[in-house]
Amino acid sequence: MDEATRSAENIRSDIAGLKHRFTLVTTEDRCAICHKLALTRQIYVFPCQHVFHTDCIVEAMVRHLRPSKQRKLRELHAVIAKDYMAELDEIVAKECFLCGDTMINSIEIPFVGDDEKELAASWEL
Ligand SMILES: [Zn+2]
Ligand SMILES: [Zn+2]
Repeated sequence: MDEATRSAENIRSDIAGLKHRFTLVTTEDRCAICHKLALTRQIYVFPCQHVFHTDCIVEAMVRHLRPSKQRKLRELHAVIAKDYMAELDEIVAKECFLCGDTMINSIEIPFVGDDEKELAASWEL
């Protein structure tokens, strides 16, 4: 736990130092949430090397947001068109779902269900 917090903080300061996100994704990289090959769908990549399918990160993140933001995120994803991409980015791509504040803040939310247990396990560094 302490170690995880420390690495999360290191990663966060790394991210803060990056102006642009340039990360190579190989055909072997897998989504950090569903563990299926990343390049089969639209993805988000973070400087910490975590790769997520857009739909996976939206679904995972929705659970950790306030209800008003949940609605917004679902709506944006539902009508995912060019016009809304920037707004979706603002919520989803601000920081890595696993390394950023969203996940760190949600440690206090009790995990329920198999899905969430898997998510918690994958978060442990
Ligand atoms: Zn996925
Ligand atoms: Zn990460």
